[in-house]
Amino acid sequence: QKFDFTDKVAIVTGAGGGIGRAASLALAGNGAKVVVVDLSEEAGNETVKQVQANGGEAVFIKADVTKEEDIQGYVAQTVDKFGKIDIFLNNAGWEGKIVPLVEYPTEAFDRLMAINVRGVFLGLKHVLPQMIAQKSGAIVNTASGAGLLATPNMVAYGASKHAVLGMTKTAGVEAAPYGVRVNAVCPGVVNTQMMRSIESGFGKGNQEAAEAARQQMANTTPDGRYAEAEEIANLMMYLVSDLSTHIVGQEFVIDGG
Ligand code: NAD
Repeated sequence: QKFDFTDKVAIVTGAGGGIGRAASLALAGNGAKVVVVDLSEEAGNETVKQVQANGGEAVFIKADVTKEEDIQGYVAQTVDKFGKIDIFLNNAGWEGKIVPLVEYPTEAFDRLMAINVRGVFLGLKHVLPQMIAQKSGAIVNTASGAGLLATPNMVAYGASKHAVLGMTKTAGVEAAPYGVRVNAVCPGVVNTQMMRSIESGFGKGNQEAAEAARQQMANTTPDGRYAEAEEIANLMMYLVSDLSTHIVGQEFVIDGG
């Protein structure tokens, strides 16, 4: 154990995915009760299974973060079952298509914005009232290096992550007077299913080209490698812990340099 989350209640969205699962395992491993939220039942249940195998406590709630009633549902169910929400990792996301802006399908743009922007907004909108009433809580939004830099061939993704940082700043300032903190992490390339999809998108489905894209992206970092999801989870743990009580509305780049 590195942090003390005993008796804390946490919600993690996208908790069936690489970063969300690593964060769920880290939260539960440090004593939190974890509400695992994902669109994929299979992936969410697998996270719960892994948490329980490590002796932790977790429950799965299936939700689509683009649907307001689903978000109201997981907030209400969490408060019904556990009485409060101490930690919220607003993490679900989609990489979208890998094509130049002029070829970007408008439906894919809309779908991506619904998940990465509307989903994060709705998470904040419905979790914050509970935390404000408690006068305590910590939220981490998962943005990306793509929220700070150009993202050639990923226009919607880059725009969405810039928006996540904008919402983080506003939410951070609005919530701070109530003792609630909102921050964001900006990972570079992380070794998860999302990067497999991005590599395959850059490789246009060709395995060798995907491998070359992977090498090229790994080489953009000074240490020449992707992050492991656990490394991102470690930063999230710090930002929701009592070691970061004066950190508000900030974005933290974690990309190996
Ligand atoms: P992942 O693909 O492994 O996991 C994403 C999870 O989100 C999946 O389990 C998926 O089912 C879930 N999800 C997708 N749409 C959803 C919806 N509408 N409702 C509920 N759940 C939904 O990806 P990951 O790498 O773990 O990504 C997690 C977050 O980290 C994302 O916001 C992503 O943009 C961000 N991020 C990832 C990287 C990277 O290199 N992998 C880098 C920077 C930021």
